[in-house]
Amino acid sequence: MLKLYNTLTRSSDQFSPIYNDMVRLYTCGPTVYDYLHVGNWAAYIYWDILVRTLIANDYKVERVMNITDVGHLVSDADDGQDKLEKGAKREGKTAWEVAEFYTEDFLGGMDKLNLLPPAHITKATNYIDEQLDLIRRLKQTGYLYQIDDGIYFDTSLFPTYADFAHLNLEAQRAGARVDFNSDKRNISDFAVWKFTPQGQTRDMEWVTPTDVLDDPSASDKMGFPGWHLECSAMALTLLGDTIDIHTGGIDHIPVHHSNEIAQSEAATGKTFSNFWLHNNHLKVNGTKISKSLGNGYTLSDIESKGYSPMDYRMLVLQSQYQSEGNFSFENLEAAKNHLNNWRNLAAIRHQRQDMQTGTDIPSHELRQDMITALNDNLNTPGALQVVDAHLSSIALKSTTQAIESTVKAIDELLGLGIMDSTPDIDDDVKQLITDRQSARADKNWQEADRLRDALAERGIQLKDSSDATYWQYI
Ligand code: AMP
Ligand code: ZN
Repeated sequence: MLKLYNTLTRSSDQFSPIYNDMVRLYTCGPTVYDYLHVGNWAAYIYWDILVRTLIANDYKVERVMNITDVGHLVSDADDGQDKLEKGAKREGKTAWEVAEFYTEDFLGGMDKLNLLPPAHITKATNYIDEQLDLIRRLKQTGYLYQIDDGIYFDTSLFPTYADFAHLNLEAQRAGARVDFNSDKRNISDFAVWKFTPQGQTRDMEWVTPTDVLDDPSASDKMGFPGWHLECSAMALTLLGDTIDIHTGGIDHIPVHHSNEIAQSEAATGKTFSNFWLHNNHLKVNGTKISKSLGNGYTLSDIESKGYSPMDYRMLVLQSQYQSEGNFSFENLEAAKNHLNNWRNLAAIRHQRQDMQTGTDIPSHELRQDMITALNDNLNTPGALQVVDAHLSSIALKSTTQAIESTVKAIDELLGLGIMDSTPDIDDDVKQLITDRQSARADKNWQEADRLRDALAERGIQLKDSSDATYWQYI
């Protein structure tokens, strides 16, 4: 039984999809104006665990993840520069080039982190027609109004607007900033379409069709979609009016997801998503990640310090997605050692020949215990504990086959790529090991030490256990 904490109900609810065994899942994707930092990546690692857990529960997953390549403004209040246009200025490129570059980098990072690719990875700029169609639907139902800088959704016409995020709209009104756009009817109203400011040209802009305008005198205006509209349009187009699960970060609750719900449900008259899952924010050295602090480490920062993306994945899995994880290079070092321990236990499968066959400790029990942990609201630390408690006895006491199926189960559920990263050693390294054993038997300590150093150069060390000597990756 899979239980997930649902932001919509503020409780841990038993999950079941609308259609039999098919889960329709939408993940808010990255805004591609810069490299993703460790916090962003943590979010996608957690949603990858969600997908793996669903699959382990025998569900098929139809998943959409968007790429926000236009319309995400610097301020949540629909003001300020578009992050993509800002990135373009910073890099002396066009917004299209910036989007393309960081999209490619994101896809490459997904691959490195072993994130299962969603069935649909959709760029907002490829769904402009669908977004305009959604605007037309909302216009027909009377939810929209046009002001100088764009077309807005009137949140006061959607009576449950404040419910999802438990917003206090009264307090929002009272605390309205002085630069609040006073043409808006309500402070919480949001743009579904913004006009390119007078006298400016954007890299990314589209003709505003006359039929979405209240005031056709604005018909020569160019414009671009609002960030919230993008997600609604892509989810409704590809997954239908009501989806099973929608995921994002906790920062999305008060604005982005409240707005997605309002406009989607206003258009369809149906519940937009049955489950809403939100990951907490990762900190770095106990501090919020921010551009000004320069603590938004990227995957390449991690790699350039000699860590692998899998070491980082291990660090993320050590916290449950709703807790505030902490990144530091000390924690990363500990995660690397933790993973290396597992790898060395997995490598025992190559070394069984001259040892007793052992009893088969059933690997399906370990798999089932991991699934039980993950079914408890994606309790990844619990799943790691299951492995910590049993992997060593499985590796030391059971057959090659049982070790293999155990490692496969760990990879299936946690995506740590252990099978692929624990190849057998080459024959010449095996020869070094045999030679070293002979040197030791002959009490030729000098030669034994020389061979130990030669092995270390190949990244291998020997470790004695009560019944045998194993080689390990250093
Ligand atoms: P953005 O590219 O800004 O749209 O963010 C991409 C994703 O990263 C969103 O789902 C955010 O909620 C998430 N996110 C941003 N900062 C953090 C953080 N420090 N920890 C975890 N997730 C984050
Ligand atoms: Zn979104």
